[in-house]
Amino acid sequence: MPQYDITEIEKLVDGRLPWPRVQEIMKDSKDTDRFHKWVEILQSRVSWRERILLPIGPNLFIVQKGRERIVKCRCGHELGDYRVNWKLSALIHIRDTPEELAAVYRGSEQPDTAWTQLREYYCPGCGGQLEVEAVPRGCPPDFEFLPDLDTFYRDWLGKPLPNEVEFVDKTLETVKTWST
Ligand SMILES: [Zn+2]
Repeated sequence: MPQYDITEIEKLVDGRLPWPRVQEIMKDSKDTDRFHKWVEILQSRVSWRERILLPIGPNLFIVQKGRERIVKCRCGHELGDYRVNWKLSALIHIRDTPEELAAVYRGSEQPDTAWTQLREYYCPGCGGQLEVEAVPRGCPPDFEFLPDLDTFYRDWLGKPLPNEVEFVDKTLETVKTWST
């Protein structure tokens, strides 16, 4: 089983590894500790201390905070329990007129605004754009990724996480509290 130096993995992550070397790594057996090295690199690049359990975007991470698992932006802003779609805690800008969509799509590429809207999600902490989705009007925010962290760490990585939590989508529970 190959083992790679963490500096080599860091270059791979940053796209700075020469292509021939990337190909060698791709063709070889998978190194079993790659995930841990990758997370170690990500952890070294944030200013906060909560343990990163899984990155879910270039600037978003699921982290362990005490007994909770929450979504946190690179800037440190927290977006709540990872089992609730983090988009509910983001700032949202909607483009749903031809004029607003013209800034994004050209000519005939532009979708029909009678059907489609573009939703841009921003971090309330740093103002960074976290995600963009083009969806039909009325469609709930797309919950793109709800990972089963306990199964992943226990059965795939062989390193169970402390304090297992129920693996369930809690988004609607949160929405329900808005009407009570
Ligand atoms: Zn942020």
